[in-house]
Amino acid sequence: MVLASSRIWKTHEKIGFGNPSLTPVISIVDPKLMLSVPAKYTAYQGFDALFHHTEVMMSKGINLLSEAIALSAIKSIAEYLPRAVRNGQDLEAREHVAYGSTMAGITMQLTSTTAQHSMEHAMSAYHPSLPHGAGLILISKAFAEFFIEKKACDQQFIKMAQAMGIENAKKPEDFITALIQLQEACGVADLK
Ligand SMILES: [Zn+2]
Repeated sequence: MVLASSRIWKTHEKIGFGNPSLTPVISIVDPKLMLSVPAKYTAYQGFDALFHHTEVMMSKGINLLSEAIALSAIKSIAEYLPRAVRNGQDLEAREHVAYGSTMAGITMQLTSTTAQHSMEHAMSAYHPSLPHGAGLILISKAFAEFFIEKKACDQQFIKMAQAMGIENAKKPEDFITALIQLQEACGVADLK
């Protein structure tokens, strides 16, 4: 274990690991414990949860259950994250974002995150001061645009745009519009 971790420090690898024993028997998800999270980190974490779901939606491993949960969570995060960022004491907003975040762990298990997460892990492995959520936000537009350009999963992007508030979304590019609007509403549209 020590050998493995020293190698990882040298090679800047940030790799995932999993084991059934890591699955909690019970989780206490209490939004009251989140009231003191600063606005910036509320936004970063909220977008991390959002991208767990958007990556699941873009994955070939999508299934009926993971899609239903992902769309419900995307809707909650898109609607309530700007409120939680603006006013950290807004318990109703915190609760909805906590729901989206908790479900991010569920959909990730039912399907999986995809390359956006893998790319960000390399970024924050080389730059440990880069918060995971901020790194994901930085590459999110280009990442989605790549898949839209390839026409990889047009319908999935349309469904996500609708869940994010563009009810009459008809084209995959509407997802980009919804994504940028959400980033602007949370004050993270121009991270550098
Ligand atoms: Zn993540």
